[in-house]
Amino acid sequence: MDFEAFFKSELDSLHEEGRYRVFADLERHRGNFPRATRYVNGAPKDVTVWCSNDYLGMGQHPDVIEAMKTAVDHCGAGAGGTRNISGTNHYHVLLEQELADLHGKESALIFTSGYISNWATLGTLGQRIPNLIIFSDALNHASMIEGIRYAKCDRVIWKHNDLEDLEAKLAAADPRAPKLIAFESVYSMDGDISPIKEICDLADKYGAMTYLDEVHAVGMYGPRGGGIAEREGLMDRLTIIEGTLGKAFGVMGGYIAASAALCDFIRSFASGFIFTTALPPALAAGALASIRHLKVSQFERARHQDRVRRLRVLLDKSGIPHMPNPSHIVPVMVGDAAKCKWISDIMLDSFDIYVQPINYPTVPRKTERLRITPTPMHSDADLDHLVGSLHQLWSRCALARAVA
Ligand SMILES: *Cc1c(COP(=O)(O)O)cnc(C)c1O
Repeated sequence: MDFEAFFKSELDSLHEEGRYRVFADLERHRGNFPRATRYVNGAPKDVTVWCSNDYLGMGQHPDVIEAMKTAVDHCGAGAGGTRNISGTNHYHVLLEQELADLHGKESALIFTSGYISNWATLGTLGQRIPNLIIFSDALNHASMIEGIRYAKCDRVIWKHNDLEDLEAKLAAADPRAPKLIAFESVYSMDGDISPIKEICDLADKYGAMTYLDEVHAVGMYGPRGGGIAEREGLMDRLTIIEGTLGKAFGVMGGYIAASAALCDFIRSFASGFIFTTALPPALAAGALASIRHLKVSQFERARHQDRVRRLRVLLDKSGIPHMPNPSHIVPVMVGDAAKCKWISDIMLDSFDIYVQPINYPTVPRKTERLRITPTPMHSDADLDHLVGSLHQLWSRCALARAVA
């Protein structure tokens, strides 16, 4: 086989479908979030980032940076091993205690990413609990889907956020089979929020465990940044809460919070936890500082919501169609892959605004969009510039406007 030719032809088909991913080569500026330098053909150019998942700018918070520097000075660069073989650093232990407290659980367990935490936890539960059936929301993140696949257990996909469909599927399953319902709180592409309480009620009725991915909510919702379940007083109703340290907490890593026995079980059986080098101590120290800050500071959360509201008002005034939702994610709807990419390119090249286009398969075809994530650090002038640019491009591109 001509391997090179194979790779190239597969890539060609991505290009043809407009699905080939191009990375913006960025250098973020400490102390000047959300500004970054973009390198294009060797020539640097300043841009404003509008699609970061560092939702609160915590990746540049002085407490976080200081904690990471101190930890590097104390402990050096890497963890030096897996958690089991010399890699457990005191910062890991403190971080797990902090996360357990954040979610009101007995224990927490950290992983090298949110992706791995979903994959390893769901995979291990599905493999190890005899006859487990996992009921998975249709829009669950790729990492949950991959974990469930890897488990090779029975899985049932229920319609996104649809309680009737979930109940029908729970009722149709073998009443003796152990069950787990896996879902998210804030869904990343539409920004909608699941009915957590009602899903927990169904879980109780059918004796199922619950697994909630709060990746897009931790740090940002709830009085201590514990997520939507904290805000709604539901944390104790969830068997497992999963989160990331890489989005609102601004660093990197993932975790689950659950009972002591469940965390110990995953710690003891999950390949994706056991056979990999532990997070560098400095990352754990940075995450710890970020979580501690957001547990007590309301400023970032309040300002974040204020920026989101203001952006929506400006978009409405300009008739730019955006998907209404109760979260901080503002999907500006284009509905055409080529136009979406074109708008994003012009925004970057002519207006110094960076918003990555979101195309199929991340979202369904015809719902291509710009997923805009305002942060507490975007100024009124930034917002005006963003919406003014969109306004111009909407006219040039002959895109339909929302009816005011
Ligand atoms: C980003 C994301 C993850 C993965 O988290 P990482 O820490 O980035 O690996 C998991 N679930 C959802 C819903 C996500 O959007």
